[in-house]
Amino acid sequence: MLYLKKTDPEIADLLEKERQRQIQGLELVASENLVSKAVLEAMGSIFTNKYAEGYPGKRYYGGCGFYDIAEDLARERMKKLFGAEHANVQPHSGTQANMAIYFATMECGKDRMMSMSLSQGGHLSHGSPVSFSGKMYQVTQYGVDLETEMLDYGVVEEMARKVRPRLIVCGASAYPREIDFKAFQEIAEGVDAKCMADIAHIAGLCATGVHNTSVGVVDFTTTTTHKTLRGPRGGAILCDSEYAQMVDKAVFPGMQGGPLMHTIAAKAVCLKEALQPSFREYNRQIVKNARRLAGTLADAGLRLVSGGTDNHLMLIDLTETQITGLEAEVALGKAGITVNKNTIPRETRSPFITSGLRIGTPAITTRGMKEPEMEQIGTLIARVLRDVHDETTIKQVKDEVIALASPFPIHPEGT
Ligand code: PLP
Repeated sequence: MLYLKKTDPEIADLLEKERQRQIQGLELVASENLVSKAVLEAMGSIFTNKYAEGYPGKRYYGGCGFYDIAEDLARERMKKLFGAEHANVQPHSGTQANMAIYFATMECGKDRMMSMSLSQGGHLSHGSPVSFSGKMYQVTQYGVDLETEMLDYGVVEEMARKVRPRLIVCGASAYPREIDFKAFQEIAEGVDAKCMADIAHIAGLCATGVHNTSVGVVDFTTTTTHKTLRGPRGGAILCDSEYAQMVDKAVFPGMQGGPLMHTIAAKAVCLKEALQPSFREYNRQIVKNARRLAGTLADAGLRLVSGGTDNHLMLIDLTETQITGLEAEVALGKAGITVNKNTIPRETRSPFITSGLRIGTPAITTRGMKEPEMEQIGTLIARVLRDVHDETTIKQVKDEVIALASPFPIHPEGT
């Protein structure tokens, strides 16, 4: 940070403080991860200097030779990792990957889509009224069964028959159970719709066989690259060759201008890392850790939505504790445990308050933590939640969090 310290000491100071926060704290936001130094180097590189509108071999600017090679590496690695026929690695974000598929498959202002509602686990970009997706398309949303708190494919199918959508979206931001992508594709085919799976949260799990994959099963798969894939903040799309041209056109020139080539280089790096055998082990451990953490929380008397987890995340239902998601998030934050408040299936509070907490294990698993640490973390969370206003306990837990986290570097050896 030699140059940054000289040019902009304020930003350099913030970065150093944030580094300390990441080292000393426990990052349990389910959509986050910690990238390797190699990914950071590619992201913070001179590849940011170039305009490269277009695709490898067909750019609108000169001087793109090295960028073509980097983007081809990212595309080929993405295809290999997921066993896909086609990959587009240009979307700036997960939301933009979704936008590209909407543009490719639906007519704005006219066509109908179906997706999971935000309050029951879906994502903002899946048709929430406050997002472009809810403003531009006619959206009907399904949720979970309120008894089991899991998807009911029969209900989704019935809705699809009534709505006759052009696109059915599956995939979620806060759903702790396995999603049956084949069932969604079959429902879509039955009503002559296309099917898109947004695997942003579980991409690493899908790539390594820890969760069933949507690739080669549904028509379009979208993802982010910064969650369980452990890469730079960004998006990507996978599909069969027959859809390659329409997807590429929807991304550029349909939805974006110049691709973020430094990010694409970093995507290539994270995908190379993901192709190593250790990445499979990492994803298996994410799920083992989530199960153990969920078990510890349940043993401490906390109710988990759907009773547990099959993936990297769990949702605590705080209704019976009388504390809100917001109060819990703030108290845990003071103790160095970062989580986010989240709505739960029978939510009665606003999205800014909520009755739930979402907790995920990707980042702490990157640091090398395993089941014994999960038990300690679960116990610490339960202690804080017992009385979110007990500042003495919060202070004690914070000291224990620092002691627990310190032996686990945010860049484990070799990364
Ligand atoms: N899709 C899902 C399922 C997500 O959970 C998220 C973000 O958490 C996104 C898309 C959006 O990604 P981005 O924030 O990169 O737009």
